[in-house]
Parts: sequence; structure tokens; C-alpha cells
Amino acid sequence: MKKTLKDIDVKNKKVLVRVDYNVPLDANQNITNDKRIAATLPTIQYLLEQDAAIILMAHLGRPKGKAVPEMSLKPVAARLSELIGKPVKFVEGDCISDQAKKTAADLKSGEILLLENLRFYAAEEGKNAAGEKDKAAMDAFAKELASMGEVFVQDAFGTVHRAHASTAGIVKHVKDAAAGFLVEKELKFLGEALDKPVRPFLAILGGAKVSDKINVIENLLNKVDSIIIGGAMAYTFLKSQSVSIGASLVEDDKLDLAAELLKKAKEKGVEFLLPVDHVIADKVDFANKAVPAGAAVKVTVDEAIPEGFMGVDVGPESIERFAKAVKEAKTIVWNGPLGIFEIDQFSKGTVEIAKLAAQSTEQGATSVVGGGDSVSAVKKAGVDKKISHISTGGGASLEFLEGKELPGIAALPEKK
Ligand code: AMP
Repeated sequence: MKKTLKDIDVKNKKVLVRVDYNVPLDANQNITNDKRIAATLPTIQYLLEQDAAIILMAHLGRPKGKAVPEMSLKPVAARLSELIGKPVKFVEGDCISDQAKKTAADLKSGEILLLENLRFYAAEEGKNAAGEKDKAAMDAFAKELASMGEVFVQDAFGTVHRAHASTAGIVKHVKDAAAGFLVEKELKFLGEALDKPVRPFLAILGGAKVSDKINVIENLLNKVDSIIIGGAMAYTFLKSQSVSIGASLVEDDKLDLAAELLKKAKEKGVEFLLPVDHVIADKVDFANKAVPAGAAVKVTVDEAIPEGFMGVDVGPESIERFAKAVKEAKTIVWNGPLGIFEIDQFSKGTVEIAKLAAQSTEQGATSVVGGGDSVSAVKKAGVDKKISHISTGGGASLEFLEGKELPGIAALPEKK
């Protein structure tokens, strides 16, 4: 177990906190969604109660090692100040300038400083100015950041799968370090689901590509009792079993692998639920996520899809079969929609399964949903508040489900 915020002494200390403030901005640098900022308030409030001086570190967008004024964190400092009802100091342009360092040095108990976008320095991502990998540059940058505070708190789950200066590099240069409340919650839910799931343990995987989720499937096959596959991913699995899939999205170079995964599931006694019928369409406007005028939309009678049609959602019989598994499950991990859920007409499979997952949760199951699209999907179904845990980090939660070590977590010290 890694140390968490309450395990370390932050009283009257200068505390560096890595947060995820990678928020969406409009063309005028207005924040269009401040959820990520609001999500950091519990950790910040706790540190304020402990009379800590708080130095927040974050990145925004992909400035690629250059100071890009449009990607300044200045609007975030203003929004955080509104949300927390306290001034938030901010030094524009450079997170380790003399002025930034002086502001950090002068920071008193109960004061907050947000440093400028860390990714204005290529060294944050372990590169030199020429864009080449450079560990020494990363370490030197991590040391500079660390010199501004005494202890370090990791609360940016969205970046812990990256070995960056502010995620992994900084830890060895501070007196103590721990996971913040947000990261602690992620580790608790994802960790407990994978390590000591209450059974039956069901994984629901969907989305566009098998290739993105091969490692997740491989890892989960060792842990789950059943697995539901929907979305475009399902067609690669079906084609690998010689089922006709018409014009559906497919990854032909992954057919052998899909067959191999199905074989493994059988050997391990994992129930592998693929769709047995589909909603199909002869035309889809993918760019605008719309059904073009005059398009034919039908439901198949079985798992086969006729020529000229593509699968766009799981069919009613599939939903019924999946529903049984969802109702029985005591642990549910879900990543990826079961159809083109952005189009209402093709969202039924995803929405129905989301509602059932919420129902199971109300009856005592633990449900964990990860990844951007899956999160939008449970929101679309109106059940996001009923899911036990919605992961804040798409990439990080996928890597966690793959069983990979997350560098930003691995670097944190163990609980004594
Ligand atoms: P991912 O990022 O891999 O979770 O993929 C999410 C995307 O997969 C969403 O934009 C869905 O519209 C898309 N998707 C799901 N099912 C299908 C399908 N049957 N055909 C095409 N795209 C799909």
C-alpha cells in the first residue's frame, strides 16, 4: 500500500501538489468545464486545515516544451480562487522563474500558489529542447520543482501513467510523499476490483478498437468470471469465428489474436459474451455522428450481418443476455460503449446496460467505470451518480486494468 495524504506530516509544511487541471478552454481561454478543478478541492481543503502552504503543479494542453500563452494556467488560477473562496497566487509564463521561486519561498501557511503550465518545459516530459529523450534534463527539472517545497502529494490520476518530472521524478527530491485523496480513491476502487473482487466479477468492454484493449482483455481474463464485449470491437471477435459482419468496422490484422483470446477464455472458464444480434445500418455519418437521410436501419435475427450493412449497436436479444450477467455481478468494471452511443438511435445497448449496472450497484455490487467515452455514456443514461466509482483518468485507468505499473504511483513511498 502506498502512503496516502493522512499518513504524512503536512502541518505547517510547504506542500507541492500535482493536480490535473487539463481543462477544456474555448477560443477566448474561458474554461468550459471546471470539474477537474472542483475535484481537487478535498485535498486542498485538508491541506488548508493543516495550515500548509500549498504549491499546485499542473499542465494544460500540449505546448511541447514552449511557452504558449494560450495554454497558460492563468484562467485556472482565477477559477480555483472562485471555487475555494481564497486568493490563488499565480506567476505567469514560467513555473521555475526567479519570481515563481520567490513567490513559493514567501508563501505562508494557508496560502495557495499555482505554478505555470509545467509542459512549457520539455524536461517535464523527459525531453531536452531538441525533443530528444533526456533523463538528466528531467531529473534537473524535477529537482528545481522539488526545491520549492518540502513534501509532495500526487493527486493527478490522469497523469500517473506517465513517467514525468512532476509525477515520478520529483519524489526522490522531497522529504516525504503520498497520494492525495483523489488518487487514493482511484487506487482503492480500481485496486480492490482487480485484487479482491467480490464475485461474480464482470468486465464490460466496448469501444472502437480491439487493439486498444488487447492488454486489458488479456489481464482481465485472469481475474474475471465473465466478460461482455460490445462496440465495434465485437466484430473482430465475431469475424475470427467466421461470422459474417458485412461492412462493420473490423481490424483484420487482429483476427488471430481475437481467436486466441476466445480460446484462452474457454481454457480459463471465463464466460465470454459476444452480441448475438445487432442493430445495423447501411449508412452512418461518422464525422457528424448522425444517421444520413434515407439510411436503412434494421435489427438482425442472429449474429450474422448482411453485406452492405454495418453493426452500430448490440441488438435486443444481446441486451437480454448481457442483462443477466450484469444483474448477477457483484463487481463490474466497464470501459467503452457498446455501440455508436453518440447517436441516440444507436445508444440503446449502452444506455440499458448502464442502467442495469446502476441497479446492480444499488443492490450492493461495486461498479467502476473508466475512460472518457464510457463516462459520457453513463451520463447519457443519467446514472453517473449511481455508479460506485467513475475514474478520472482514461489512459491511466486503462493501464491500471492492463496490470501495468503506473510510474507516478510506483514512485510513491510505501505505507510503513
Ligand atoms: P473507445 O475510445 O475505444 O472507447 O471508442 C469509443 C467510440 O467507439 C465511440 O465514439 C463509439 O461511437 C465507437 N463505437 C462503438 N461502437 C461502434 C460501432 N459498432 N461501430 C463504430 N464505432 C463504434
